[in-house]
Amino acid sequence: MMNTDFDIENFVRQNVKNLKSYSSARDEFKSNDDLVFLDANENPFNNGVNRYPDPQQTRLKIQIGKIKNINPENILLGNGSDEVLDLIFRAFCEPRTDNVIILPPTYGMYKVLANINDVEYREVLLTANFQPNVDEILNIQNKFCKLLFICSPNNPTSNLFETDKIERLINNFNGLVVIDEAYLDFTDNLSWIERLKDLPNLIVTQTLSKAYGMAGIRLGICYASKEIIRILNRIKPPYNVNELTQQRALEGLSFKAETEKQINEIRHQRKNLLIKLRDITFVKEIFHSDANFLLVRVDDADQRYKQFMENGVIVRNRTNEPLCYNCLRFTIGTAQENEKLTKIAQKISQN
Ligand SMILES: *Cc1c(COP(=O)(O)O)cnc(C)c1O
Repeated sequence: MMNTDFDIENFVRQNVKNLKSYSSARDEFKSNDDLVFLDANENPFNNGVNRYPDPQQTRLKIQIGKIKNINPENILLGNGSDEVLDLIFRAFCEPRTDNVIILPPTYGMYKVLANINDVEYREVLLTANFQPNVDEILNIQNKFCKLLFICSPNNPTSNLFETDKIERLINNFNGLVVIDEAYLDFTDNLSWIERLKDLPNLIVTQTLSKAYGMAGIRLGICYASKEIIRILNRIKPPYNVNELTQQRALEGLSFKAETEKQINEIRHQRKNLLIKLRDITFVKEIFHSDANFLLVRVDDADQRYKQFMENGVIVRNRTNEPLCYNCLRFTIGTAQENEKLTKIAQKISQN
């Protein structure tokens, strides 16, 4: 941000400012073999999960920090990105006073979380080529505008946003900018976490749910200045990332070569599927994808969605989203799954 007197305290909700967070037993003393723990009313018989988990997920943050080349104090972990995003709302948005900006068509949770937290959301539609409308966004912001959600690559449009547009937004937006990088691993782009040092109003989120293949364990990652992380830490539930998740995440993150192989295969399959779908007569347009799914415009999305379902393949019908009329979203599966999708597409295109 241009302005050097950026002070995060000016963005924090009043009740959070005055908050003293719950100090759990495991916050005060870290697990250590030499100590006897009679402080947390746990069952003393060891079964691997009888103790409360590390509330700060220290080992996991160190490992993520190494992989992403970032200091653990710039990391907050949550029960999926969804929890992380909810914490951001609760830390910075005064219900019924503040507002946030979202850029439809985009990830549905931003709107849901705004509603749950009773925070007004303002929508600025993406342009026809699915890019943020920077002037319009900067135009509708007011002093109560606390958060701007940028999803890049964007779900469901599958494209990255242009770097200079994002940069202009971060530099000129009055509030905090949240960049959701759930699909970044399917691109060659650098993460915005590289820029955290010079952009104090930036928050970046990532997840183990997509490229890392661990949607089932629920692990979302938030990167920000240590001042922002400290504030989010104040309001997070003490044991928000359970022991099994922490263990499984550590294990999964160590399979670096396997993860890379899978990402490459998904990217390869994305290209294959795109070529196959081009020959389907009911396919009208396939949008450029930087993610692990394709957004495809068809002749009649409701009808085709139903036909895929009747043939045993569930896809996502996005026809009711703005700019996505008659669009279906296909997640890239295995070679066999994509083959099945293609076969069914050929079959149903005959009637
Ligand atoms: C899938 C997805 C996520 C992941 O959410 P988790 O709660 O971490 O599983 C986050 N953001 C976007 C845009 C997504 O599509």
